[in-house]
Amino acid sequence: MTASPNTPADQARALLADLEGQRRREEQAFRAGFEAGYRDGWEIGYAHAHHEMAAEWEALAAKVRAMTEVATVNAREALDESAARGEPCAAACGRCSRCARAAAVARRGGDYLGERAHRGAA
Ligand SMILES: [Zn+2]
Repeated sequence: MTASPNTPADQARALLADLEGQRRREEQAFRAGFEAGYRDGWEIGYAHAHHEMAAEWEALAAKVRAMTEVATVNAREALDESAARGEPCAAACGRCSRCARAAAVARRGGDYLGERAHRGAA
């Protein structure tokens, strides 16, 4: 049984006797504080990253939506009739996009209308 410190000398002796306990309590308090700070910092960083990714996904989704609104069938129908038939440019240069398309139409024997997508097949 330890006597409760009454005098300053008793208090000093009690403090000295508990130096190791004090060091252990300070270490535990430091560790708890460090872990709480680390956890809070991680959560704040995660929240920032989440907001950044959400903003980037929103921009990407808007871009994809804009792309899907392009009516490819309508765009094809709106093509110049001669380009649709696969006729080269007036100069028949063989290098421009119209001539490349004309070569593709000639190679395929007609306009390419696309293929049905096969999903799930590896
Ligand atoms: Zn050309």
